[in-house]
Amino acid sequence: MSKQTHSFQAEVSQLLHLVTHSLYSNSEIFLRELVSNASDACDKLRFEALNNTALYEDAPELQVRLSFDTAAKTLTITDNGIGMTAQEAIDHLGTIAKSGTKDFMSKLSGDQKSDAQLIGQFGVGFYSGFIVADKITVDTRRAGVPAEQGVRWVSGGTGDFEVETLNRAERGTSVILHLREEALEYANTWKLKEIVGKYSDHISLPILMEKEEWKDGELIDPKDEKGGRQPGAMVKTGEWETINKASALWTRPKKDITDEQYADFYKQISRDFEAPLTWTHNRVEGSTEYTQLLYLPSKAPQDLWNRDKKAGIKLYVKRVFIMDEAEALMPSYLRFVKGVVDSADLPLNVSRELLQESRDVKAIREGCTKRVLSMLEDLAKHDKAPEAATEGASKDAGVTDVLSDEDKAKLGQYTRFYTEFGAVLKEGLGEDFANRERLLKLLRFASTTSDTMSVSLADYKARMKEGQDAMYYITADTLAAAKNSPQLEVFKKKGIEVLLMTDRVDEWALNFVHEFDGTPLQSVAKGAFDLGKLQDEEEKKAAETAAESFKPVLAKLKEALKDKAEDVRVTSRLVDSPACLVVTDDGMSMQLARMLKQAGQSAPEVKPVLEVNPEHALVKKLDGSVHFHDLAHILFDQALLAEGGLPADPAAYVKRVNALLA
Ligand code: ADP
Repeated sequence: MSKQTHSFQAEVSQLLHLVTHSLYSNSEIFLRELVSNASDACDKLRFEALNNTALYEDAPELQVRLSFDTAAKTLTITDNGIGMTAQEAIDHLGTIAKSGTKDFMSKLSGDQKSDAQLIGQFGVGFYSGFIVADKITVDTRRAGVPAEQGVRWVSGGTGDFEVETLNRAERGTSVILHLREEALEYANTWKLKEIVGKYSDHISLPILMEKEEWKDGELIDPKDEKGGRQPGAMVKTGEWETINKASALWTRPKKDITDEQYADFYKQISRDFEAPLTWTHNRVEGSTEYTQLLYLPSKAPQDLWNRDKKAGIKLYVKRVFIMDEAEALMPSYLRFVKGVVDSADLPLNVSRELLQESRDVKAIREGCTKRVLSMLEDLAKHDKAPEAATEGASKDAGVTDVLSDEDKAKLGQYTRFYTEFGAVLKEGLGEDFANRERLLKLLRFASTTSDTMSVSLADYKARMKEGQDAMYYITADTLAAAKNSPQLEVFKKKGIEVLLMTDRVDEWALNFVHEFDGTPLQSVAKGAFDLGKLQDEEEKKAAETAAESFKPVLAKLKEALKDKAEDVRVTSRLVDSPACLVVTDDGMSMQLARMLKQAGQSAPEVKPVLEVNPEHALVKKLDGSVHFHDLAHILFDQALLAEGGLPADPAAYVKRVNALLA
């Protein structure tokens, strides 16, 4: 193939522009990205070679080599991994295939500072080479193809790149960076070793550099030993040494790994810019043996709500990388967990299909789920400084003074976690029956006594009133709507706490939960009003009398609203409002029905029950009013408005109100 010129995909050009213009402040990440590509290429070779050992040709030892040439101003990263064919080079180094990078592109604001931060989060892979190079040459040959089918790819990182055939004896890829003047510092052994130590120590593959040694300069006067020498220099010795630890981080004993190394490894595998919230690292022994290193991120990714999003777990078998996004290893409601599972038992050629069926995988999945839940329980337990810790301590000592450093670090962490991921965790109630009890204990809600999402079901239960036999909650679109619902009026009056649920998943998740620790959960907007023992006899009598004397009015209301309301009845749940809407005990809430409709899904037509407050002036006026029909409809529509809905015919509503106002 003679030289061909190709244009970059438009997004690549955009990305390249950004890379070269705003990333300079963190330029060293280019090495991390290129070494990681080299390592991936070796992983791919190892994987393909499982079924075809010929691919190793005569070089079975996979490795990455770094070398530089100060005179030529080049830095080269060479791997003997899978390599690329010409078509692969054109496809992979000319477009952005990865959805993550595409995602990233769509987030660019044009503001260099924040865009540069974003890049750190996403990683730009190969293209980051252009941070330090004004030209990149890639020489490569796919494993298993003849030497004549090598490829040279060259680009200056602007609009296009060139590709031509190359004779290349060795398999794999060399990325040759032609360094910019301001990036010449990277043509230096110490510098490169430092960066490899920082980002790539955990790469299980050896990263080699040629050893250097000091050589004195030549004698200025060859005949006079004392006459001085030319300046000396470090020279290459032709001997190569491994400069990284070359052992996968998760295989090392915990005590040998620093928090910083854990955090760096997390950033590498998750492409997250921020450090993780916490992690758990264990070797699990028993009928199934594996190592797990699982992280909780500190921030939710943009696509958290995409349930099709793959889990963030990388699967290794005996240190050989098998696959990314191994969703069989983590339930969907824990899809935010990132990490590595390295199994000692699975076959190396395990396929995605096989993963779904394997008993070992099931055991790993259960084990990982339990681990994550324990990690969360631990955070939840230490989220607030425990009262107990201050017991016995001197009065002046702050709570934090008596906590261990480790416990101090955990303060507030669960709250942070829950703010980001709590809503996803709730999906587990419908998904993971085996762990439902544990999940329930991890939930936090706002309530009529707490605006922050900090009330656990156990807290609520402990605060329940004498004689209260249900845990009350209300679901609404927003906290304000929940707090101001008419249904809460009598609860407020009697000082009974009600949980305020405002996550979209709450209603759905609660379908699967009928009680907590033996106490039923009861929506205050569903079913007939019954406070049980909390209502005294007098109140009950008064309600019955009111209902009795109201019967004729109710019959008329029912008739007037027969198209809108399932039923009309009097209630004692209201104090200040004239009316409210409720649904039957097992009915879908109006809020959920609305949500489904908005999402374009089919939802049953919910016909609510209108409950009226016989003590309210407006309701008292109904009897004998000439405006009965209009008042009835206004009552209904206002109850609908109060709980976040819209009258079916808003114009008619306005007309009726105006007629009365006039
Ligand atoms: P990513 O590695 O995240 O997919 P990159 O932009 O870094 O994105 O690389 C794009 C693609 O180019 C890779 O997915 C891979 O197919 C190919 N590639 C990059 N570097 C190498 C390499 N050293 N050896 C073989 N293929 C490579």
